[in-house]
Amino acid sequence: MAGQINAFQIAQAQFDHVAEQLKLDAGVREVLRWPTREFTFRIPVRMDDGSLNVFTGFRVQHSDVRGPSKGGIRFAADETLDTVRALAMWMTWKCAVVDIPLSGGKGGIVVDPSKLSVNEKEHLCRGWVQQMIRNIGPRQDIPAPDVGTNAQMMGWMMDEYSKLSGEFTPGAFTGKPVGSGGSQGRTEATGFGVIYNIREAMKRRNIDPKNSVAAIQGFGNVAQHAAMGFVELLGGKVACVSCWDRNDKKSYTYSHKDGVDAKFLLSITDQYGTIDKAKATAAGYAVEDGDAWISKEVDVLIPAAIENQINAESVKKISSRLKILAEGANGPTTPEADEYFKEKGIFLVPDFLCNAGGVTTSYFEGVQNDMNFYWSKQEVLGRLDEKITDAFNAVYEMSEKKKVYMRDAAYMVAIQRVVDAMQMRGWLQGDW
Ligand code: NAD
Repeated sequence: MAGQINAFQIAQAQFDHVAEQLKLDAGVREVLRWPTREFTFRIPVRMDDGSLNVFTGFRVQHSDVRGPSKGGIRFAADETLDTVRALAMWMTWKCAVVDIPLSGGKGGIVVDPSKLSVNEKEHLCRGWVQQMIRNIGPRQDIPAPDVGTNAQMMGWMMDEYSKLSGEFTPGAFTGKPVGSGGSQGRTEATGFGVIYNIREAMKRRNIDPKNSVAAIQGFGNVAQHAAMGFVELLGGKVACVSCWDRNDKKSYTYSHKDGVDAKFLLSITDQYGTIDKAKATAAGYAVEDGDAWISKEVDVLIPAAIENQINAESVKKISSRLKILAEGANGPTTPEADEYFKEKGIFLVPDFLCNAGGVTTSYFEGVQNDMNFYWSKQEVLGRLDEKITDAFNAVYEMSEKKKVYMRDAAYMVAIQRVVDAMQMRGWLQGDW
């Protein structure tokens, strides 16, 4: 649509803003504001009814400066090359901010996966690998699940890669099922990573976690484990969670006067994250409008559903008690709402730091695959805590040193690490 800027233009504008503050060299900017490599290809699939369908697939490798590219494969009907480019660039910054030796990549197929049979899905996954086999692998580019893809699909893709390459290569994909090269702790990783970040933010702001209350938007993988972690790891209370009800086609907020019991709610939630209203009501939960989560009297807000949820309008409903905004989702806050948080001095844990637990554990999965030796859940989560805490501290210190908002500080830490790697590899003039 004329005049509307797309995700890739937003990603480039964010980069340009920080590149200016860091006074980056023009050549460095030109390298980092574009993908290093990108692939668009066609995947023919024989469908169950015997017809031949052709699907469009993408893979974008934004960078390989700090290590192989890393990022999910999305199956989405509205997938575009520009969306994949933006997501690949953001993966570069996410990997750099948690200091794992990987760079950004992303992939996709233009398809609505709910319209495919299991057989057709498997053929499409294998077809994607057949097109990309020469340009992916544990030392080149390591895909993972994302919107519309799951652990089973990574299992098929890893199998196809291993068959075509003639070697069992579990490290070619992450997010695989446990027992087929997957890592313990991957399910909890993103939600717990959000909680480790909140714990560190509370230390810096002298907030007692045990007397803290949080409101969470969403009840999918990230929100479920953030809700459990807020209670089990911090000793706080979760006032509410929310979800999109796929039967009613609207969202609801579920709250309980004693705090929500995430394990109970999980037992009455379907695989798409929709909570059973009748069972929740019977158990004493109040079921309110989907927007109610944002105006609760809480210390911490955790948007963990979809993008653009805290915007110029909804930000006005936030309670004056709020102290921390922890972005579990990608891009939940619009620039207008950011201005409000800056003005009020509310502490922000920005998305690509806050939700980096997933990619960090994917990196651990690859390490375990390489060693062919697998860690316990406790070991995985302990190492995750260490990585997230270090990342939080680096960003916090940058925000203090440069007197900038945490979002800008996270970009500064990440971009500086990528530029340092370019320098060390001899891409730039002068001694390191
Ligand atoms: P998910 O699909 O498991 O769950 C999404 C949840 O959001 C569901 O409960 C759904 O009902 C709810 N939801 C959707 N629209 C809503 C609305 N309008 N109002 C209220 N709730 C709504 O997804 P997820 O894996 O939990 O991911 C959530 C966010 O976190 C996304 O932005 C994703 O990109 C990001 N993220 C996820 C991971 C991960 O490891 N899962 C890692 C990094 C970032």
